Amino acid sequence: MGLFDLTGKAAIVTGAGRGLGEAVAIGLAEAGADVALVTNRTPADKTAARIEAIGRKAITIQADVSDRTQLPAIVEKTLEGLGRLDILVNNAGIIRRTPAAEHSYEDWQAVIDVNLNSVYVLSQLAGKHMIEQGSGKIINIASMLSFQGGINVPGYTASKHAVAGLTKALANEWASKGLQVNAIAPGYMSTDNTEALREDPVRSVQILQRIPAGRWGTSEDLIGPAVFLASAASDYMNGHILAVDGGWLVR
Ligand code: NAP
Repeated sequence: MGLFDLTGKAAIVTGAGRGLGEAVAIGLAEAGADVALVTNRTPADKTAARIEAIGRKAITIQADVSDRTQLPAIVEKTLEGLGRLDILVNNAGIIRRTPAAEHSYEDWQAVIDVNLNSVYVLSQLAGKHMIEQGSGKIINIASMLSFQGGINVPGYTASKHAVAGLTKALANEWASKGLQVNAIAPGYMSTDNTEALREDPVRSVQILQRIPAGRWGTSEDLIGPAVFLASAASDYMNGHILAVDGGWLVR
């Protein structure tokens, strides 16, 4: 299936040292891409070794994406190390759980900086290069809380609604320039991000009961959708928010 082949392409994945980002980075490499692995606190060596074992090139870039002054170097180092840039996956994200009345401004700001502001700035930096190139794929990692309100996570919900809106705004402007900007909205996936929910005996049962597929998602569940949105198979998709949720939203 040549449509899904990423041979000769170069991708940036943020938050690629663990969780969903690590699985997506490895999946893109399995489809043929070289990958720039952006991590902050988690060393990326393990992910890089797995990509090299597949026979693809990996470079590691340490950056705190909440600091916008660190973002230009991500694109520069990728172009230097991999020689091109075709795919950007804005995956890095954080969540702060406290009831809205007590949700501190610091928590709000930290979540907006990582989940939204970094997506805007990095998309703009990569987008400028992709516009010149006349092609590119940007995949933002949205959430069920791009559609729903959630409980105890007002900053996260605001950031993920905004990520969906930004995906559509960029898609509209850049579709005619050969770029496709889309998002994946994962459902309830078993990663560090949802550890508190899975450990809560009441919420974990409520959540599982509502998932038609009858299980939490895994990081590997994102690989197929990510390869699809990174490949020529999705060349006529623009501004779509693709739910990968075991049926949660349609319940
Ligand atoms: P996770 O296991 O908690 O991992 C979070 C990732 O974000 C880590 O790779 C982390 O990198 C990176 N990150 C956080 N702050 C960063 C910063 N300031 N600079 C650079 N990287 C930073 O979460 P996950 O479940 O894999 O989530 C990945 C994405 O999917 C997030 O956008 C999340 O909102 C979204 N999502 C997750 C779920 C779910 O159920 N798990 C559902 C919907 C959406 P370091 O470890 O290197 O700091």
